[in-house]
Amino acid sequence: MSNTRTREGEKICFDVIVVGAGLAGSTAAAIAARGGLKVALVERGQNPGGKNFFGGAVYTHALEEIYPDFWDRKPPLERPVTEAGFWFLSQDGLSKMTVQGGKLKRPSSTNGNGGQTSASANPGPTSDAYVALRARFASWLAEQAQKEGALIIPKTTVLDFMHEPGGRVIGVKTDRPQGDIYAPITIVCEGVNNLLTQKLGLIKHDLKPSTVALGVKQLISLPTETINARFGLADQNHGLAVSVMGDVSMGLTGLGFVYTGNECVSVGLGVNLDLLAENHLRPYDLLQRYLNHPAIAPLIAGGKLMEYGAHLIPEGGWRQMPRLFTDGVMVAGDAATMVNALHWEGTNMAIIAGKAAGETAVQAHTMRDYSAATLSLYRDNLKNRFVLQDLYQYRNLSNFLEHHPQFMDVYPAFLNDALGMFFSGFGVPKKTLYRDILRSFTSRRPLIQAVGDMVSFGKSVMGW
Ligand SMILES: Cc1cc2nc3c(=O)[nH]c(=O)nc-3n(C[C@H](O)[C@H](O)[C@H](O)COP(=O)(O)OP(=O)(O)OC[C@H]3O[C@@H](n4cnc5c(N)ncnc54)[C@H](O)[C@@H]3O)c2cc1C
Repeated sequence: MSNTRTREGEKICFDVIVVGAGLAGSTAAAIAARGGLKVALVERGQNPGGKNFFGGAVYTHALEEIYPDFWDRKPPLERPVTEAGFWFLSQDGLSKMTVQGGKLKRPSSTNGNGGQTSASANPGPTSDAYVALRARFASWLAEQAQKEGALIIPKTTVLDFMHEPGGRVIGVKTDRPQGDIYAPITIVCEGVNNLLTQKLGLIKHDLKPSTVALGVKQLISLPTETINARFGLADQNHGLAVSVMGDVSMGLTGLGFVYTGNECVSVGLGVNLDLLAENHLRPYDLLQRYLNHPAIAPLIAGGKLMEYGAHLIPEGGWRQMPRLFTDGVMVAGDAATMVNALHWEGTNMAIIAGKAAGETAVQAHTMRDYSAATLSLYRDNLKNRFVLQDLYQYRNLSNFLEHHPQFMDVYPAFLNDALGMFFSGFGVPKKTLYRDILRSFTSRRPLIQAVGDMVSFGKSVMGW
């Protein structure tokens, strides 16, 4: 099928319009184009990737599902994640709970090349997660959509929708002169600031500060050998991805992160927006405080700042999710709050949701039925996947953390002190040592309340 747009009279017509060339949008566009549809991928940025932002890691399962030969397409990935876990910060200490190798190592039988074992010089991915730099990765993903036949229309902002008399969306209005584009299906992948989704009435309110985190991060350039030495990584085929809890967020609901790239380290944190406002904290100050922490500062010392940025992260999950479809429209990715903040899973949710939306668009065209009833297949598809299942499982997480702030400060600080005491209690009768450790705990949180916290965590978050 032709990839060029068609004009009917003065109208510019496509089969599908995708709004936003982020991860969800580029995937939706690729899948719809692969299904033989004429697809316009409209992006407000200078180029795809220009407006994207993440910390972060991307996950090979999602890439592989869209492009079984993704490894041969040379995605711009940095280091494989060979060490992952949690770091717990106290005011002046750090304890680590990380795993290296083991289950993080991808079995060689599933390494790339469409899942075939490869003994060639290109052995395929070695981990299920890779650190990636946002602009490069998003632009590579958009290039793949282009190769499938989607037409990328950059520097164009979608402002509103066009509706037929019955209300069904039949196209979008853009900020270009004579820039209206028509299609029976629009897939909205506009990211966290979901103004268009709100315009459609799929969600009844603007973003609430309590349901979004502000992510701030610095990308710091360092020589490869320095990164290897400081993070204990054998070489460039080894990388670290950790979530940081405790003193990083001054006890507020939030998580820090550290990711190692080839020649850069990404360090940042995300803290709920309402808490920043209530506590009169400026995100940059919080980030600086974290970067100056005695356990963090030496890791990035002497590095050159390559990039500083801030971006919202939708953390409302299931409870803040808009309706995912209406007549002629589907919504995917951050625009639909598809982020699992605890696991830093957003990129894979966006990609898998984009795929499901693209597939549903192809089905709808086959049936020539663009009604909400047909597009509800998109939601049904995601219900059977980790995307909606996990968001449902973690539906109480934000509320839980808001009411259990001790998980953010008391427990991480205790862990540091307890380990410190255990490994410095030389020449002390061990009965005394254990009593002191227990006292150090109960002085912060009575045991009965701690047991209650754990049970409450199990019930609210893990679905016990
Ligand atoms: C600090 C931080 C760290 C993160 N770390 C990780 C991580 O390690 N792992 C992970 O999986 N996830 C991580 N995430 C989450 C992840 O980045 C997002 O979930 C994911 O990028 C969402 O993709 P998306 O396509 O939905 O949205 P986006 O990537 O935001 O794309 C939206 C696109 O739509 C365009 N757009 C918006 N409005 C319009 C319009 N009106 N017209 C035209 N174009 C428009 C934008 O310019 C943008 O290109 C992190 C996020 C942050 C902020």
